[in-house]
Amino acid sequence: MQIAVYPGSFDPVTNGHLDIIHRASRLFDQVIVAVGRQASKEPLFSFDERVEIIQLVTTDLPNVTVESFDGLLAHYVHRKEANIIIRGLRAISDFDYEFQLALAIKKLDNNIETLFMMTNSEYSFLSSSIVKEIASYDGCVRDLVPPLVAERLRQKYQYQNNS
Ligand code: ADP
Repeated sequence: MQIAVYPGSFDPVTNGHLDIIHRASRLFDQVIVAVGRQASKEPLFSFDERVEIIQLVTTDLPNVTVESFDGLLAHYVHRKEANIIIRGLRAISDFDYEFQLALAIKKLDNNIETLFMMTNSEYSFLSSSIVKEIASYDGCVRDLVPPLVAERLRQKYQYQNNS
């Protein structure tokens, strides 16, 4: 059984992430979307919220599960008895960080392979940060995220702007 882990912050999940999840679910027996804690980033959505949102927008994909993880990604992947990590690639600007990450993981566990999936050209500009920026100024994010995420963003920023 081929298990792939797709890790990320997913704060929040966008249509770009979902495109990768759909494509990976067709290639592997099981895909674990792993929501990680990024020490350097202060998230808008909590760990639990991000997991719940991704679960709700992937109910049509029976071989996709969603979990959160803490600590080193290489250790988590090993615990899950997986040996494949999926990452998405957008522009050249992603390459440097992804290259470092893939090599660091390889150093920690030589059995793990990082596979890169090229972004869908429609979503090549799309990131969680851009989505948050637009939503925070009440811009329309309808084509960028699933309807549930657009609604959760609206609620978050309405609450923040009124408090
Ligand atoms: P991280 O903080 O780990 O980079 P993200 O949630 O920003 O987490 O992204 C998770 C993964 O999804 C990364 O590999 C990133 O390059 C990829 N990704 C993000 N947005 C897109 C997109 N629009 N198209 C393809 N891949 C994407």
